[in-house]
Amino acid sequence: MAHIIDTEVDETGDDDPFSLGHSAPGEKMCSRGNRSFRSKQVPFPEFVSHHDIDKEGFEGDAPEIICSYCWSNTINGVAETQQRDDDLSGRIGTVGYRLRWKQKGRAREEWYDVVVSPDTTMAELDRLVCRFTTLDDFHLRMYGLEDEYLDSSLNVIPDHQYEKVADPTYTKASEMTVGEVAERADLWDGDRLSLVYDFGTPSYFYCIIKEIYGPTEIEELLGNSDSIVSTETAAILTSSTP
Ligand SMILES: [Zn+2]
Repeated sequence: MAHIIDTEVDETGDDDPFSLGHSAPGEKMCSRGNRSFRSKQVPFPEFVSHHDIDKEGFEGDAPEIICSYCWSNTINGVAETQQRDDDLSGRIGTVGYRLRWKQKGRAREEWYDVVVSPDTTMAELDRLVCRFTTLDDFHLRMYGLEDEYLDSSLNVIPDHQYEKVADPTYTKASEMTVGEVAERADLWDGDRLSLVYDFGTPSYFYCIIKEIYGPTEIEELLGNSDSIVSTETAAILTSSTP
């Protein structure tokens, strides 16, 4: 009997939200049976095709081989998430995000979750990013959309850098908000932003949007005293370091 693992709680940032099997990481969708760390965990599409199950997603009755408690909990969970996303997606530019920052090449070892609101300026975000990356103003930096790095279509750079280049194709970080970036790029769950630094021999960070938040949720999160460091509209909430 296969149980369903919700890998959204998985900290490695894998994109497939559900998989079948018993092994960590992730959270089992029912409280029955024991977790066996010896058995294999496979993504949903692989599982259904291997067992010749005629399902494209979590709908209808549970296939015999899959735990029916897991199945119905997953269906409910998927419906809730879908409903919430539908409610929020019309409001891009007014929603906040949980951004999971990672250094390219060391994704599994270390990450930082930064919660931002639509009013957070890129300068504020940059300040928080500098905290955990320990980058300072001796390092040139630029923010862009997914995988853009040096080819940034946003061309967002810190203000002090802007004063030096005086090139109008760049944007001062203090003059662009997360909400504006979101509208421009239609940012949603799973989308990414990029950060390149040290342009001569460039190095990279990126973040994945892990959660979407409405205004009330953002307020609650920012009011959370557990934050590692915060600005008025954004905070580093959690981290994983080796
Ligand atoms: Zn189960």
